[in-house]
This record gives sequence, C-alpha cells and structure tokens, in this order.
Amino acid sequence: MPAGPDLPRLPPDPPLPEDPEILRLLLRWCEIQSEAIRVRLAAIEDRQRAAAAKPAGAGAGPGRGPKELSEQWIVQYTIGAPRKPMLVHTPDCGLTTGHTRPITRAQALELLTGHTVEACGICGAERHLGVGSP
Ligand SMILES: [Zn+2]
Repeated sequence: MPAGPDLPRLPPDPPLPEDPEILRLLLRWCEIQSEAIRVRLAAIEDRQRAAAAKPAGAGAGPGRGPKELSEQWIVQYTIGAPRKPMLVHTPDCGLTTGHTRPITRAQALELLTGHTVEACGICGAERHLGVGSP
C-alpha cells in the first residue's frame, strides 16, 4: 500500500454526543461510508493497474489486456428500454442471457454494494466477491 499524505491531527477529545442511539447511528454511518470508500478505491486502483498494464501508444479503442480479460465479471441488463443493470455473474457463469457487458471485479463490487443490482443466484457471484448477508 502506497504511503498516503499525512493525516490531519484530530483533537484528543472529538466533540461526540452522549446519546448512545446517536453514537450507534454515527458508527453505522461510518461503516457504510468506509465500505463505499473501499469499493471506490478498489475501482480506481483497478483502472490504474489497467492503464499501467496497457502498452504505451497502444492506440485508441477499448483494448483489453489478457490479465484484464481474466478478471472480467459480467453484468446482465434488463430487457426493454431503458436498460438497467439487473444481475452480476461470475466470469465463467453459463447462465448469462440477453444484453450483457464485461465489468471489472471492482465494478461488480460497486454494483452489488449499491444494492440496486442483484447477484446471480446460480453462479454465486455474491459469494465469490465476498459480499452479501452472512
Ligand atoms: Zn450467474
């Protein structure tokens, strides 16, 4: 992990409320924000790795290297317009039908943790990505 910028110093006694319910709410909010930050960071790092792996002057177009291909997950869209992401599949799921698009692992995680897209129940995308209810 690269060394980040120095963190600003927090006061020794942050101004937190005394109400346990508000403290639990704040804690939950921090957990949700941490997860969102982790997913966004993974997506950015994926893009940076893909950009670094691309040979210099490779030309225009959505070229993908062999490493990226092996990490492709699949998003399946709804039928009809407007098309919306509906299901996330593992890279090797044989049950994808209709309109699909390859996505990175980080993008798959982002879709599933956004709670707007479900994981395919057959290939177990959620389990393979390590997300979902315990
Ligand atoms: Zn599947």
